[in-house]
Amino acid sequence: MTADLPIVRTSERSALGRCPQQWWWKYRMGLVPKDEVSDALWLGLGVHEALAQWYQPGKKRGRHPADFFEEWSGDELRYISASREDWDALPKYEDAAQLGISMMDEYVKRYGKDPSWHVIATEKPFEVTIKRGGQALALFGSRWDGVYRDLEDNTIKLMEHKTAKQIQTAYLEMDDQAGAYWAVANAVLLAEGVLKAGERISEITYNFLRKAMPDDRPRNKGGAYLNKDLSVSKQQPAPYFVRHPVERSPGEVRSQFERLGDQVAVMNAMRAGVIPVTKTITKDCPWCPFWDMCKLHEQDNDNWVELMTGLYDQVDPYLQNRKSA
Ligand code: SF4
Repeated sequence: MTADLPIVRTSERSALGRCPQQWWWKYRMGLVPKDEVSDALWLGLGVHEALAQWYQPGKKRGRHPADFFEEWSGDELRYISASREDWDALPKYEDAAQLGISMMDEYVKRYGKDPSWHVIATEKPFEVTIKRGGQALALFGSRWDGVYRDLEDNTIKLMEHKTAKQIQTAYLEMDDQAGAYWAVANAVLLAEGVLKAGERISEITYNFLRKAMPDDRPRNKGGAYLNKDLSVSKQQPAPYFVRHPVERSPGEVRSQFERLGDQVAVMNAMRAGVIPVTKTITKDCPWCPFWDMCKLHEQDNDNWVELMTGLYDQVDPYLQNRKSA
């Protein structure tokens, strides 16, 4: 009976990897801060929505993502700590709506209409059953941003959009999200008829957009930014956009399924009280959404429960999966 199986999500695996206590509060108790979606998440959501409108099925592009973002953001007033270059050490906050519109404008200037991208499907949710020793353990659910045929090499690829303050790609070699997508992509897309018999996904294209306003200094013909005296500046900005291909070998797919099964087994053991919910305390804890509550909890101070009620709402973290199942 798959309906009785627990659901496991990509973000949940990251939370468990970061700290089991964080996973427990977020995914077992369903706690979300009352000040709802953080501004950074809000920007990422808007960018994903805008690109979903842009990459409609086919070769023709949809609504300009900057226009969509402007309408989507409405009168929201949010400020976001955006990407900064090294020479500017002070924190810099940007109007999140203006930043999103600008990022979308620059994105289209950079890639145009991606004439070689024939989009097959956009924003596809999926769900697969995770088994261990032949026994069904959980449903693994997530969504792809899109599937497209690259007309340049006639192969089918997944697109995965990422917004980031700094674009880093080295971690993708071992990234669980990329690995899990890769592990299930072919089977799911074949079952849904998106792939025909004999076809397979050739890569995941990680499509990074850096959260930064454009550099308005003049540029030379080669694209280098110039000083006021028109000499080439030593301070060139980091790339605003990067597309990074990711592939996985059959051995890595096997490891990925094993790790997914292991993680679900650990989650289930914590749910059943067989193993304790531990804390992974690091210097990054002050950025955890449960930091203040966790400090009281750590002091064995019962006020942590009062703080929980005051600062967090309780929601079903799997609601989206249940709706799309
Ligand atoms: S503050 Fe640190 S130890 Fe506490 S839940 Fe968050 S990540 Fe875990």
